[in-house]
Amino acid sequence: MEFEGIRAIVTGGASGIGAATTAHLTRRGAKVAVLDLNPEAASEAALSIRCDVADDASVRAAVERVAREFGGIDVVVNNAGIGAQGTVADNDDAEWQRVLDVNVIGAVRVSRAALPHLRQSPAAAIVNTSSIAATAGLPARALYAATKGAIRALTLSMAADHVREGIRVNCVNPGTADTPWINRLLSQADDPVAERAALEARQPHGRLVTPEEVAAAVAYLASPLAGSTTGTELAVDGGMQAV
Ligand code: NAD
Repeated sequence: MEFEGIRAIVTGGASGIGAATTAHLTRRGAKVAVLDLNPEAASEAALSIRCDVADDASVRAAVERVAREFGGIDVVVNNAGIGAQGTVADNDDAEWQRVLDVNVIGAVRVSRAALPHLRQSPAAAIVNTSSIAATAGLPARALYAATKGAIRALTLSMAADHVREGIRVNCVNPGTADTPWINRLLSQADDPVAERAALEARQPHGRLVTPEEVAAAVAYLASPLAGSTTGTELAVDGGMQAV
């Protein structure tokens, strides 16, 4: 199997894109550890650990536990993330810091803790999670878009810094994906069914992206087949960025 012998961490792997990624990697032979605020929901993982990526001590303890229990770490998928709505007029410093702490520094903390282990791996890869919000100029997404733009820049810098250590770093840019996150947002609308139809109609390919489609892109970037690919981003957005 494609991921036989691969030991992976998926942050935020208990829901949505992270859960689909955990399932995809597990079914292809990987041992996956999910690090999540809500680990009991991680059904297909070999190991589920309660971890807050906004807390460095929590991250370091979780990553060391994975390395101990799995005997090493080959792949890190930095997927945990939270949303934010509004223009720069709407969010105060505390809100900026809260979302940056999870979406940007969270990926930094997990990568930093995993680097010593990835250096020992013959198949080391980090896959970060950006978003269409970083490339498409969506209205009222300033804070969220800034965090996802930072992930694109971080990916490129980390790719350059670690390529000679044999560690590849890439990112995926999902479009609007059919996950519990999006369904939570839709449920707040006056008419969730109409809102969903309108959202689907705004996608160039006429539907939401599936979590499995994003998981397949993550898996490609994490796999030895992408052994010469680093510092790149892969859009899984139904053509949103192209139009
Ligand atoms: P989701 O809300 O369904 O799942 C997110 C998971 O992350 C949850 O299990 C949650 O418990 C976990 N999490 C949140 N904060 C955490 C923290 N501090 N520490 C550890 N775990 C934490 O979300 P999703 O839609 O699957 O999104 C996953 C990733 O994809 C996010 O980074 C998001 O920004 C990105 N993304 C999503 C979409 C979309 O339309 N759904 C589009 C583009 C990018």
